[in-house]
Parts: sequence; structure tokens; C-alpha cells
Amino acid sequence: MPYPEKVEAALFGLAVGDALGVPVEFKNRDTLRKEPVTGLRGYGTHHQPPGTWSDDSSLAFCLADSLCTGYDLDNVAKQFIAWYQRGHWTPHSEVFDIGNTTREAIHRLMHGEWPTLAGGFDEEDNGNGSLMRILPLLFYVHSQPAEERYRLTREVSSMTHGHLRSVLACFIYLEFARQLLAGHGKQQAYENTIREVHAFLEEKPFNPNEIQKFTRILSGTLRGSTEAQIQSSGYVLHTLEASLWCLLTEDTYAATVLKAVNLGGDTDTTGAVAGGLAGLLYGTAGIPAGWLDGLVRRADIGVLARRLAAATAPAG
Ligand SMILES: [Mg+2]
Repeated sequence: MPYPEKVEAALFGLAVGDALGVPVEFKNRDTLRKEPVTGLRGYGTHHQPPGTWSDDSSLAFCLADSLCTGYDLDNVAKQFIAWYQRGHWTPHSEVFDIGNTTREAIHRLMHGEWPTLAGGFDEEDNGNGSLMRILPLLFYVHSQPAEERYRLTREVSSMTHGHLRSVLACFIYLEFARQLLAGHGKQQAYENTIREVHAFLEEKPFNPNEIQKFTRILSGTLRGSTEAQIQSSGYVLHTLEASLWCLLTEDTYAATVLKAVNLGGDTDTTGAVAGGLAGLLYGTAGIPAGWLDGLVRRADIGVLARRLAAATAPAG
């Protein structure tokens, strides 16, 4: 798959997964087992028409938009504020969902806080609010050394979520995405990610208790986990585990994102985080055409993807 198609597939994959989850956010697993999501639905939890994506995609698109003109956290902050105040990169010119940690961080950005210090640093600030929007950073960092990939991931996460756990979740997610971008299949991508993340972490003075939180992912046992072992709340570790588990245990874009959404809980974010990876893996052609056609602002997202691809294309 050519590079611009991968960028496009990642953004579409994320937004479609998000939109599938929006109408059933907060519904629990038992409820969804009886009445599973099978395609784009309207209304429900947030009273939005079908194909409406949430803050996850909005903030990812703000980051993508900003990266089209290079890496500038002040500009990313401006776009986040424009989203919050004026509905920039929203489906229908209004914000209908925002996490507490993200809201507090954006207020600090509005009052002039440095972007890398705006996010929450406490253990309870480990919602999935930076993981859900981090994927576009992949296209800026993919050919840089691991040290630099980590540093930039930490900075972008820390705009809203500065705790090491959130940063590591974003880093592991982007390392996995980077393997898919390089063309590896999901199992090879998983094995390579484990090996490379271990090698990177070995030299770091990080709190071992934090690294231990990622044991299920980094020991390679995630794929064999049962559904009962996979939680799908708004906690960053749950979202990372759930989305990787869905990717590893299904073989199409549709099956991956529907499994993610039907886990219940933070359905839109689990769908978005899984959907971004599934987009990279299966391509835009792997996303059901009816879902793409039903995506609000599909054309604008396509233009954004082409701009981001042109701005970040590998040399040669
Ligand atoms: Mg959301």
C-alpha cells in the first residue's frame, strides 16, 4: 500500500471506529451482547446522527492538521482550543463530549501554560484521552530514532495526559502502528513491538511498577486472553489492551472494530483506537464502503490525510 493510502486508512479507520461507538457509549457488555452494534447507527447516547465521530477523532484531526505544517506544540494547542471554543474539526460545529482531564488541560492551555506541562500528572489522570488522539503523530515520527519517537510522544501526550502510564501507552501504541506502517502483519508487528519496546525500556530509569502495568501486552500473552480478562473502561491501560486484543484476534477491519465497540464501556474510544490500527492493517479498501460513505465530513478527512501524507512522506 502506498504511503498516502496508509495515512488515509489510519484516519478513516479511526473515525469510523469512533462513529460506530458513539451511539452506545457507556452501554455495558451484557446489554450489547443482546443488541450488538453491526453498523453505523444514529442517536443513542449523544443524540447524534449516524456517522458522527467524537472528541477522539476531532483531537486527532487537530493534531494531524497541525503536523501538516511541522511539529509545533503551540499550534497544536491553538487547534485544541479552537476545537473546544469554536467547534474546529467537529462533525457538526459543536463539541458534544469531552473528558475531564482534557477539559482541565485545555483550560490551562487557554491561560498560557506551556503545552508540555498542561496535562494532568497524577495517577488518576490516566484516562485514555491522549491515546485516543495520538495516532497522527506516527506519520511525523516513524522514521526517527526510538529516543526521539519517545520524546515527541511524551510531549504530545503530556498536553493533556502527562503521567508515565499514559505516555507509555501512547508509545507502545505508536510502536505497534509503526510496525503496521512498515507492512508487517499483525502477529509479526506484535512480536517486533514487544522486542523493540523491551530493548528501549531496558536502558530507562522508569519506575518498574509502571512498566509492570504493561505485562500482559509486553509478555505476548494478550492474544490468548479471554474476553472476560479484557476490560473496556476509559482507563488508558484497558483501552490499549482491548484495542490490541481485538486487532490480534480478528481478521478484518469490520470484525475488529465491531468487537471493540461491543465490549461496551468507552465504546467510541476503544473503537477509535482499534480502528486506527485496523485501518493501517487492512487499508481504506478494507473498511466497508457503506461505513465510509456514511462518515460525516468524509471528504474533508480525505483532504486532511492527503495533506498530512504530503507533509510527512518518507524521502526517496
Ligand atoms: Mg469520544
